[in-house]
Amino acid sequence: MPLSIHDTYSRTKRPFEPRDPNRVTLYVCGPTVYNYAHIGNARPVVVFDVLFRLLRHTYGDDHVIYARNITDVDDKINAAALAQGVPISTITDKFAAIYNADMAALGALTPTAQPRATAHIDAIVAMIGRLVANASAYAAEGHVLFDTQSFPDYGKLSGHTLEDLIAGARVDVAPYKRNAADFVLWKPSKPGEPVWDSPFGPGRPGWHIECSAMIEETLGLPIDIHGGGHDLIFPHHENEIAQGLCSHKGGGADHSDTYARYWMHNGFLTMDAEKMSKSLGNVRLVHELIERFPGEVIRWALLSAHYRAPLDWTDDLLEQSHRTLDRLYQSLQDAARETGQSAATPLADASLEAQAVAGAKAVIDALEDDLNTPAAMAALSALATSLRQAVTTKLDDAPVKQRTLVVAGGLLGFLQADPGAWFEGGADEALKSQVEALIGARAEARRSKDWAAADRIRGELTALGVEVLDGPGGTATWRRRE
Ligand SMILES: [Zn+2]
Repeated sequence: MPLSIHDTYSRTKRPFEPRDPNRVTLYVCGPTVYNYAHIGNARPVVVFDVLFRLLRHTYGDDHVIYARNITDVDDKINAAALAQGVPISTITDKFAAIYNADMAALGALTPTAQPRATAHIDAIVAMIGRLVANASAYAAEGHVLFDTQSFPDYGKLSGHTLEDLIAGARVDVAPYKRNAADFVLWKPSKPGEPVWDSPFGPGRPGWHIECSAMIEETLGLPIDIHGGGHDLIFPHHENEIAQGLCSHKGGGADHSDTYARYWMHNGFLTMDAEKMSKSLGNVRLVHELIERFPGEVIRWALLSAHYRAPLDWTDDLLEQSHRTLDRLYQSLQDAARETGQSAATPLADASLEAQAVAGAKAVIDALEDDLNTPAAMAALSALATSLRQAVTTKLDDAPVKQRTLVVAGGLLGFLQADPGAWFEGGADEALKSQVEALIGARAEARRSKDWAAADRIRGELTALGVEVLDGPGGTATWRRRE
């Protein structure tokens, strides 16, 4: 089944056909790096990471270019830099590094390119110059503004008309704007803020223009897929289309009719059914969550709802996700014990390996249906059930099923850890040897039927935050609980 995508622009689910299957392009709006990312910021990262993995699987690793920008000039960054008396790069370098580490902890692959706005100022200035030259933009009071009246398709992505935008006051009204919906491309810098020279006077870019400039420089128009959170449809993505297309108006460019061939937007994330906000005190930072839960558990929770649907973030969801992943890893651990092999590497027999890879089809089918991650994760659980049955009844195809589960998990970014390491949960060597010694002593106590001692030792293990799972033939595995 070929991939089909719900396209926000056409409001339909359409089969995905890349412009060039040898160079599939994906752009996702990235973070403004001035503080820690919250869990709502992580949702598009993980969703589009699954898409990136699926596209790589379909078109080949070297044929997919995924760009996720870093906004490194912005009012909030400037404010943080001024408050601390440091250059903006001190703030942005720090938080870009933290962001990348936190997203890597959630299993997100590094995008092919992570362009930064401040490294593309020349392209931004050139694009604004073209917009002014062809009368799509105008200068006023040190600002350059995009003239929304010059673009008849303005509002098509979001379903707004210029009239309802103005009537509904969805736009900032400023005295220097010809029309209330016009938006800033370039603005003067305030004292102490970073400033760049330009033909329109010294200043800095507005936010929207950076994505259009970076898309042109890193990917080229039209791109195949543009992604982001639902809240970016208007005005950010609407403005990207307007300035991106109009910058080629009258310029003889051969690609001035389409900006992005498919638009994908993920739904909102709420906290216990409430909006996440500082005033409600319910902001959850990824940086803190990864201290409490394995990144893979957080990833599972983020993908548990379809990306277009709202996702309600609760402690229950995290705990349930943890239990589900424990069950999947347990299947792998039991299988490894039975088959005597790890499923991390391809099976030696090529035809068996092909069989194992083919077994992941149900997961791929679900993902190709507009990235239906809940269905894909259900298929993964079904593969684990089938593996458990094969192991219990000692079927010959247990090694193939074991491998299938790891291959299928990899498509979603799951189950790539060693099962033993998963259950040890990052325990240090000292704790590991302490636990192993206690488990050995407990096994000895059980063999000599000293149940009181065995129970006492289990209590000691519990106090260490360790749960012991007795396996067949007196073997025991253990896991850490938070
Ligand atoms: Zn953007």
